[in-house]
Amino acid sequence: TTSDAYEPLTPETLGPRLAGLAPVAAQVGADPERWTVREVGDGNLNLVFIVEGPNGAVVVKQALPYVRLVGDSWPLPLYRAFYEYHALTRQAERDPGSVPRVFHFDEAQALIVMEYLSPHLILRRKLINGERVEGLGAFLGRFCARTAFRGSELSMRSADKKADVALFAGNVEIPAITEALVFTDPYFDAGMNNHTEGLDPVIAGIRGNAALKARAQRALMKFASNTETMVHGDLHSGSIMATDTEVKVIDPEFVQYGPLGFDIGMLIANFLMAYFSQPAHRGGDPDRYQDWILSVISDTVADFEAEFAHLWETERTGMLYPAALFEDQGHDSAPAREALLRDIWQDAVAICGIEMHRRCLSLAHNADFEDIADTRLRARLEARNLAMGAELILRAEAIPDTAALIALARDYN
Ligand code: ADP
Ligand code: MG
Ligand code: MG
Ligand code: MG
Repeated sequence: TTSDAYEPLTPETLGPRLAGLAPVAAQVGADPERWTVREVGDGNLNLVFIVEGPNGAVVVKQALPYVRLVGDSWPLPLYRAFYEYHALTRQAERDPGSVPRVFHFDEAQALIVMEYLSPHLILRRKLINGERVEGLGAFLGRFCARTAFRGSELSMRSADKKADVALFAGNVEIPAITEALVFTDPYFDAGMNNHTEGLDPVIAGIRGNAALKARAQRALMKFASNTETMVHGDLHSGSIMATDTEVKVIDPEFVQYGPLGFDIGMLIANFLMAYFSQPAHRGGDPDRYQDWILSVISDTVADFEAEFAHLWETERTGMLYPAALFEDQGHDSAPAREALLRDIWQDAVAICGIEMHRRCLSLAHNADFEDIADTRLRARLEARNLAMGAELILRAEAIPDTAALIALARDYN
């Protein structure tokens, strides 16, 4: 017997609560006595269980009413599971096969039952381990292009897009985390910040630069107030799972409408942090693996632009850049597309720099750096990352393409 009132699951209560659900029984098997349940959540926010039975396995993700990383002193609405569910269904439509299949959603319990990705591992872990993933950049570039293009009024009917903007606008508290932790806290002595010993002079330089802070706030204003497309909102290497040949994107609870360049900018930052941290993980000879990481960045951007251009030609059915203004009047629309892609890239470069900063200065750090036990080495590598981040924010216009971005990364390494 189960009630509708929200209750966080435990490995013991999960079986009784979910056993009666046909879609779950179909995946795992009908008899919960024969299920084994493990809690595996390693993220900052939610409970994640793997449920295995005679038929197969599923993942059950349940929101907690507070931030797991901090504790119940920081409440956080359960409604984020609702937004994660709706984001997953849209991503599955816009880039089929890119996200786990959803078997069941329970709004009152704030839980999603989804496909168990196995033997996939979190990409961040693979990058730390020095493992390559075939086709990684191509997958991620396509994912970003398809979700960006197909979630915008380049392609969607305006009524549908505006209804989605209204739907996701209810996700207030979650983007507020990004607005504070990503865009603002790195740039002052915020209460929950932490950083590696030895970085104080570098940090003083960043916080003392009003022009840089103005640029970060301009990027925040775009993030908070433009509704170009539905963004994943948390597309770092901890939200990507991969085998050596297959890639999936998970964890879109930070979904909202925002800039077309947001996801790809955050993603590139996470590859750059993997790049800068490599000397600590790869011992004497990180060079070749570092080169591979940079090749993933160029593949991601190249495939993003190629797929965006393809969709521009084949699916530009929305209110924006209509054929009536271009092709129908005998104009090539390619220059308009290229100009738009340049704007997207500029936004992405600034977001990239900001993400590089927040992962070393704000609350939530990443394992790429945190796993480096030698704090002097960590500080040295983080300082390179912080310096490059500052240059990306301040001089975005001087970095017109991936080649320039990669050249800069090599300079700072
Ligand atoms: P959070 O929102 O708390 O960060 P995530 O959705 O990122 O939660 O999930 C936390 C962890 O659970 C992931 O890092 C991954 O290890 C595991 N996980 C999540 N979803 C799946 C899945 N569909 N298949 C396999 N493992 C998963
Ligand atoms: Mg996560
Ligand atoms: Mg740290
Ligand atoms: Mg999450």
